[in-house]
Amino acid sequence: MGTGEPNKKPGFILVISGPSGCGKSTICRNLLEDERVDFSVSVTTRKPREGELDGREYLFVDEDRFREYVDSGAFLEWKEVHGNCYGTLKEPVENALAEGRIYLVEIDVQGGEALKLIRVPGVFIFVAPPDLDTLRRRLVDRGTDTPEVIEQRMRKATWEMDHADLYDHIVVNQDLNIAIAEVRRLAGLAEKADV
Ligand code: 5GP
Repeated sequence: MGTGEPNKKPGFILVISGPSGCGKSTICRNLLEDERVDFSVSVTTRKPREGELDGREYLFVDEDRFREYVDSGAFLEWKEVHGNCYGTLKEPVENALAEGRIYLVEIDVQGGEALKLIRVPGVFIFVAPPDLDTLRRRLVDRGTDTPEVIEQRMRKATWEMDHADLYDHIVVNQDLNIAIAEVRRLAGLAEKADV
């Protein structure tokens, strides 16, 4: 730029939502390879799954601690999802915005709606499966859920798809590489190779 000023674009949150099994976690992992992107580590009362680390995927806390966060106003939003509580901390979002970073928030649709309502500067992307049959097949092939949980996820997916128009953009994940490229473009991350 040559002005002596740091080339700082305004920061924003990049909200990615979509039904379980739509590929949003894979897309998020890809986005995080970009050094301009930080991951929002939510606080949750759910127990860690195998391979998850406290402070990396989530901050894992008990219900009392979660309540303390709620009472002290530490959350930008929080919700109960599948019987566990999840919350997005305010302070790291504020820091990321002040530093001109892209703050990636992988969150359910209720959380996305809450963030949209409080008007944090953001790009809101809903990742959709090509159709519900494909989603069911992906969940079955993933092999991590019982048939009951799959049915629960499918019911939630139908509800989420009905709320997709809350988002700024809907990206249909038919082909993962195309979906990743599309999300990167929408997030303003695609131009890097040309700089
Ligand atoms: P999981 O337990 O499978 O990691 O996440 C369950 C759901 O909670 C997912 O849809 C995930 O995106 C959502 N989630 C994760 N963090 C937050 C959060 O901070 N707030 C809200 N509202 N949902 C979250």
